[in-house]
Amino acid sequence: MNVILLGPPGCGKGTQAKRLEMASGLTQLSTGEMLRAAVAAGTEYGKMAKEVIDRGDLVSDDVVVAIIAERLDEADVAGGVILDGFPRNVAQARALDEMLEDKHLKLDTVVELSVDDDALVERITGRYTCDQCGKGYHDKFEQPKVDGVCDSCGGTAFSRRPDDTEETVRNRLSVYYEQTRPVIEYYRSKGVLQTIDGMVDIDDVTQQIKEVLKIH
Ligand code: AMP
Repeated sequence: MNVILLGPPGCGKGTQAKRLEMASGLTQLSTGEMLRAAVAAGTEYGKMAKEVIDRGDLVSDDVVVAIIAERLDEADVAGGVILDGFPRNVAQARALDEMLEDKHLKLDTVVELSVDDDALVERITGRYTCDQCGKGYHDKFEQPKVDGVCDSCGGTAFSRRPDDTEETVRNRLSVYYEQTRPVIEYYRSKGVLQTIDGMVDIDDVTQQIKEVLKIH
């Protein structure tokens, strides 16, 4: 099964993709995470991408399409994928259609997480992760039980994404409304779109997605 999670920055795509990966055996493919790894490793892609990501703009379609195409050829994705953060405009959605056709793969479902716009800036600017295990926290919604110590691994160093500042988040949101929103209509017209409520409790969002995808 191949699935896309769609929705604005901060809607919970990454969190839900990780939960689904655990529950389903599908593999999460997050273009944002792959680009951040490329930036950290100082690869050619990474050098090209860093400034664009820090501004909150979109990295060029050629780069992200190539990254996804390469990943889909690797053995560990044979059980199916959860695309998180891709496609982000209609050109990428069309490129994905072609890529899937070439590789004899099928897109099963696109799940849109619907959220109130007002919640997004607060959700994004408050989030941070443990450097050691990657567990996510939030200044307001989910703090470690012991201040400064990760609940999962005991790590004491945490980081925030450089593009989670208020200014960049506002740009990321306007890029989303201009470029990514039309992707929702693209999939609606193909009859594969399912919209769920992303404002309820995190476990309930997971449950709704599992029901839509028939994962038990
Ligand atoms: P994310 O982790 O999905 O919020 O992505 C972080 C940043 O990576 C975005 O603001 C973009 O600069 C870049 N990015 C991630 N996915 C894509 C994509 N599909 N197309 C273009 N840029 C992307």
